[in-house]
Order: sequence, then structure tokens, then C-alpha cells
Amino acid sequence: MSDIKKPRVRFAPSPTGPLHIGGVRTALYNYLFARHFGGTMILRIEDTDSKRFVPGAEAYIIEALDWLGIEIDEGIGKGGPHAPYRQSERRDIYRKYVGELLAAGKAYKAYDTAEELDAKRAELPNFQYDATTRLSMKNSLSLSSDECAALEKAGVPYVVRFKVDPGQEVVVNDLIRGEVRINSSILDDKVLYKQSDDLPTYHLANIVDDHLMEVTHVIRGEEWLPSSPLHKLLYEAFGWQMPEFAHLSLLLKPEGNGKLSKRDGDRLGFPVFPLEWHDPVSGAISSGYRESGYLPQAVVNFLALLGWNPGDDREVMSMQELTKAFSLERCSKSGAKFDFEKGKWFNHYYILEMSSDELATELRRQLSLNGINEGEINTAAVAVAIKDRVKLLPDMLAEARFFYEAPTTYDAKAVKKRWKEDTPLQMQEVVKTLQTVSPFESEPIEAALEEMIAANNYSMGAVMNAMRLALVGALSGPHLADILAILGREESVRRIEQAVASIK
Ligand code: GLU
Repeated sequence: MSDIKKPRVRFAPSPTGPLHIGGVRTALYNYLFARHFGGTMILRIEDTDSKRFVPGAEAYIIEALDWLGIEIDEGIGKGGPHAPYRQSERRDIYRKYVGELLAAGKAYKAYDTAEELDAKRAELPNFQYDATTRLSMKNSLSLSSDECAALEKAGVPYVVRFKVDPGQEVVVNDLIRGEVRINSSILDDKVLYKQSDDLPTYHLANIVDDHLMEVTHVIRGEEWLPSSPLHKLLYEAFGWQMPEFAHLSLLLKPEGNGKLSKRDGDRLGFPVFPLEWHDPVSGAISSGYRESGYLPQAVVNFLALLGWNPGDDREVMSMQELTKAFSLERCSKSGAKFDFEKGKWFNHYYILEMSSDELATELRRQLSLNGINEGEINTAAVAVAIKDRVKLLPDMLAEARFFYEAPTTYDAKAVKKRWKEDTPLQMQEVVKTLQTVSPFESEPIEAALEEMIAANNYSMGAVMNAMRLALVGALSGPHLADILAILGREESVRRIEQAVASIK
């Protein structure tokens, strides 16, 4: 595929709710493919199903793509030569193409009511509207044109159905799946247009737009693979060249089989949406990667490797590196298990990559949200000291809190284990040492303490753990000398004396 010239791809979500993480991956692969070949990424909103339309979903999609750095070149929010890019605003266009199919005898009008269709299904359990049954139904093939006109005059709404010729081999070549081969007899005469809402169905709108928008590659989820033979027949009916198809494998549950669902996320405690979503009807809130403390680079890196690999053992890859390496040939045919721990691993990696300024800005944001005053503490130094211990951004506050708020209680188990009869005496020596060490920085502090401990024949572990308890309130936290240096001489001494006075 090295001869691909400036492909045009599209991400074409339906605004039926928050974008699922699988949809985000589809958008990402389209984007990487477009960028790899210097092509164009289009965003089109497929909102022809008014019953499933959810307010806020379109804005959510745009915000999510923007957060992840998936840039749109053309379409919603950007404009372009094929505007409008929202299908509900393209009715005139679809009407024209429906008319063309009708005029050419490749589609027909059907007047069957919902009740009549139900009755037929009850009568014939395997009923399908197709070449074997269409003449027994109410449509422009079975009725005279006078009868049709009378029905329309009486206000009976019609749908337009695609007239699928039976007995043809339909072969679709999929860039990931290889050949998909079916016999057209298994297809039904799909509804392409509904007069009642003057809108086409997904199938017609989708292929008309892909054609008009000069889409060269349709990269989308596996759930659309079964539609591809029908789409091929539609392209043929119009006499249009079909774009290349590439259907991406599913994202699978972390354990067991089946498609990753929101329920898996709720059960195992991870988001399946990029951003938090507030359901406009139920008010229910679904967690998002952004609000849970993931960095967009981590989400992108993690998703890129779920169903694609660079062909070598690289794991950490920036958007630029992914773009360079991406190819549809390396997309896997089989589903990718959603390994959530790996996602956290990537996030931790990218947190370690943040500059101390960026880390400090984030920590300050969390402090101020929680009404914690920075006081004299050097927040940039705190952020650097704790970053090793941070997997998700909100961990920062938990890890940093004790720097800003001196302990008022001490972990009881730790006290029992680490605060002995001779601890107060040892802490007096520690205080003496801290009062003289200069400069009051991590390395000299560490050296002075070690010297004092050796001179007094104390146990290193005993002294260090008791100090940690006094300074942090628990046996956790970063390197002890770093804690002392950041707290400063005065505050360190104060905390140790406080512990000696209050731990019994
Ligand atoms: N509107 C479809 C969806 O929401 C798009 C399918 C396609 O890309 O053709 O998934």
C-alpha cells in the first residue's frame, strides 16, 4: 500500500451518547492513517436516526478528540468543500440520490404499515423483505402506479427499499479481513429512505457521503463488516467506485470473551469513555479517562497498541512516532483484550516524563481545588519527590498532602511496631543533628544522620522509621532526606518534637 496518495478518511460517529473508547480507537486509527500518508481526516456526524439522537453527544465527541490531540482537517467544526457535514442538514442531497435509484428501477417504494409487517412476520417466522417475498407485499413493484398514487394521496407514508437482485456473488476485499464473500440472496431489501421523516437510513447516507466527500478509505469498527456487501451493491447501483474498506477488530473484555462493555468498566473500576459523561436524561454520570487522571498521551499510546503493533518491540510511542509507524497491514484480525493495568502503566510512564513545572502546575491545581494552602513549601520540589508514586494524577494530592498538613494522628499499627521506649531519646539526637546540618539539603542531611546513627550505634531502620512516622504520620512517602529538605529545618524539628510529645 506504499503507493497511497493523500488518502481521505472520515470518522463518522452517530451522536447517540458518549463516544465509547472503541470509537476513540477508530478515530485514532483513521487519524494515524491520514497523517501517515499526508492525507485528510474528516469528521462527519451521522445523525439520521432521530430516535437515537442524544443532545450534547456531538459536543462531547469534538471535545474528546480535541483532548486526545486527534485533529480534524475537514468537517464538523472546521468546514470544508463538502459542507454541511451533519447528515441531518443534507436532506436535499439524499433525496436526489434516492430519486435516481427509483428512476433507474434499482429501488422501489413500499407502503407496508408496521402492523402489516408484524402480521407477515407472525405468519412467516423467517420472513425477510426480499426477492422471494416482495411481490406479496405492498409496494410499487406489486401495485399499479394508480394504486401507489392513491395510497400516497391518502397520506400513507412510504419507505424506499433497495431492490437486491438475488443469486449474485458479492465479494468485498477488506484490507484487514481479506475477502468477504456472500450470496446476495441472503440480503434483504434494506430501507434506504423514510418519507415520514424525510431522511435516509444509515446505509444510503453513509455511502452517498463517502462518495461525495471523496473518501478513499473507510476504516471503521468490525460491527459494520456485515454491511459491507450491501454497501458494495449500492456503489454498483450508482456506478460509483467503492472506497477501500478496513474493518477493525473488537476491543474485548479484560477477562473472558466478548465485547468490552460499560458494565466491565463499572465492575472492574476503569472508564470506558474518554471524558466524563453526564447523561442528559437520567442524570447518571459515567467516569472518563480525563477526569480519572489520565494524560491524553497515555490514552493515545495505550489505545494505539490495542489491535495494532509497530512490528518491533516498541511500546512507548508518541503521536508522531505512531504516525510514522502506522499501517493497516499491522492491524490485527482478532480482537484485542482490554488490558487496563497496561493503561495505568502508560499513564505512570507519561507522568514521569512531565517536567517539574508541569507537575507543579497540576499539583497546585489539586491543592487549590481542595482548599490547601501552599505556605512555605516548594511545590515543584514536592511534585518531583512524589512523582514515582503517582499512577493517576489525583494520586498526587494523596501523596503530597502531608507536606502541607502536619500529621495530627499517627498510624496506630506503625506506632506499635516502630515507636519504642528508646525512640524519644533517639529523636533528641536526630533533632540535634538537624539543627546543625548545613546546607539543609537532602545529601548533607542524609550524611549527617548516617554519621550520628553510626556514632551512637543506633539501628538505621529504627531511627528512619520513627522519623518517617513523626514527619508523615505513617510509614509511607518518598525518600526521607527529601522529605526533610522540603519541609525545612524548622518544620522538620517541630514535627519530630510534636511526635515525641504526643505519641505515648
Ligand atoms: N455512524 C456509524 C457509527 O456510528 C459509522 C459507521 C461507519 O463508519 O461507516 O458507528
